[in-house]
Amino acid sequence: CGIVGYIGKRDAYPIVLNGLKRLEYRGYDSAGIALYDGELLNVCKTKGKVSDLEIKMQAASVIHGNIGIGHTRWATHGVPNDVNSHPHYSNSGNLVIIHNGIIENYEPLKKELINRGFNFKSDTDTEVLINLIEDVKNQEDVKLGKAVQIALNQTIGAYAIAVFDKNKPNEIVVARLGSPLAIGVGEDEFFIASDASPFLEFTKNAIYLEDGEMAVVRTHKDLKVRKIHDDSLVDPYVQKLQM
Ligand code: GLU
Repeated sequence: CGIVGYIGKRDAYPIVLNGLKRLEYRGYDSAGIALYDGELLNVCKTKGKVSDLEIKMQAASVIHGNIGIGHTRWATHGVPNDVNSHPHYSNSGNLVIIHNGIIENYEPLKKELINRGFNFKSDTDTEVLINLIEDVKNQEDVKLGKAVQIALNQTIGAYAIAVFDKNKPNEIVVARLGSPLAIGVGEDEFFIASDASPFLEFTKNAIYLEDGEMAVVRTHKDLKVRKIHDDSLVDPYVQKLQM
């Protein structure tokens, strides 16, 4: 399973698609991509191979955009099918997430969200997390990064996640605990991936998030890395990759 993301001036789709192909060795049962082109948020996903996704994408209306995230899934909660594949939307349709890992306490969180009026399309733990993030964002009236942080502090489990809001398409929020996550730092562009292979051809500057860290990658801004549990800022260590 793997995650890929891009934000910057380039067309995100080929970067994300080829990135998913490079991560195929990690094993998976489904694949999906979300792209935002400034008007429409297109989420395309399928059980099967990245090549099946590519065929499905060719029929989709939106295959351009400067922000995109992609996922290969190794199902833990919910059978492998199109609906359970990632990315997952929040109820408002504004937030999208990709997630590798497991949210162990998704059942009580889901019950609580259902009581608060949320509904669910999939059987995944991941759809619970994105709606928890949306609930926190609305209730506490905070920015996306803060909402992700508060929501993650209510979870037990493991994750590498990438989240964006189509109403704020200049940033992607990423976080890691127990699943790998690398950030490629380009010139006013960022790459996100489970390992550096999807972005090596674009940049040799990589930040490997440590467990318990999150980052908001935002165009025209410095990258901020913080600890999820106590909000302390971490000086990001930018590695020069040799390969
Ligand atoms: N637990 C999530 C799911 O079953 C993510 C699985 C993964 O790591 O790909 O959808």
